[in-house]
Amino acid sequence: MSRLVIVTGASRGIGAAIAEFFVAAGDHVVALSRSGVAPAGCAKSLTVDVTDSHAVNDAVKAAIAEFGPVDVAVVNAGVTRDGLAMRMSDEQWREVLATNLDGAFFTARASLASMVRARSGSIIFISSVSPFMGVPGQANYAAAKAGLVGLARALAKEVATRGVTVNVVAPGLIDTDMTTDLGAAKDTMEAMIPMGRIGQPSDVAGVVGFLAGNQARYITGAVLCVDGGLAMGQ
Ligand code: NAP
Repeated sequence: MSRLVIVTGASRGIGAAIAEFFVAAGDHVVALSRSGVAPAGCAKSLTVDVTDSHAVNDAVKAAIAEFGPVDVAVVNAGVTRDGLAMRMSDEQWREVLATNLDGAFFTARASLASMVRARSGSIIFISSVSPFMGVPGQANYAAAKAGLVGLARALAKEVATRGVTVNVVAPGLIDTDMTTDLGAAKDTMEAMIPMGRIGQPSDVAGVVGFLAGNQARYITGAVLCVDGGLAMGQ
């Protein structure tokens, strides 16, 4: 049976690969992003800024009205605005926290009630290895992505007896728009990856698909790194 899968930040990169994964599985994918662009085959594409809690609530309600309870919510929308902490502006800090953490909370909260009522569901937050490694220039991003782990684990315990799982996927360096601007730093980081290659969005999508599936039904509160070994340390 087709599931309702909500994917934020589905217009490109990792989110688009995740949306494509669920489309290929025959699910109803509702794609959310600021541009409203979505991969072919998505059941619905909505223009939503995840920092706006009302817009997120309305989008999730519209999805539920059309397709029934949310089975899977993949909380993926994210941005970076790197800079050394001493020179980081309030605006740089707030934009990254608002998108990566506030937006994640709004999306999870909007999806949870229908999952709890249905006594079934899976929430997957896309974090990063950045908070585990300590990446200079990413104080805002690392704080937001570390926050997702605490958020996921609190939620996981709140809904554990209701058939709802909450997990975190922490990608390493993945080949998307977000990493194209890294320039020479990208080669330096690639050299640190034990598996010797940058990851592809599909590497992350497969793991998200697994966590959303029946084979992962006994996994909750977990953090899965998808990073070719990058966060293991030297
Ligand atoms: P990307 O190619 O830059 O895509 C970011 C996505 O987020 C786009 O679909 C964008 O859509 C959406 N988005 C950004 N701000 C939004 C907002 N306020 N409201 C709604 N949608 C918004 O990035 P990516 O590499 O695929 O990253 C996806 C996730 O993986 C992010 O959470 C990122 O932090 C995480 N991650 C990425 C890497 C990596 O190496 N690439 C590593 C670790 C973790 P619109 O522009 O259309 O709104």
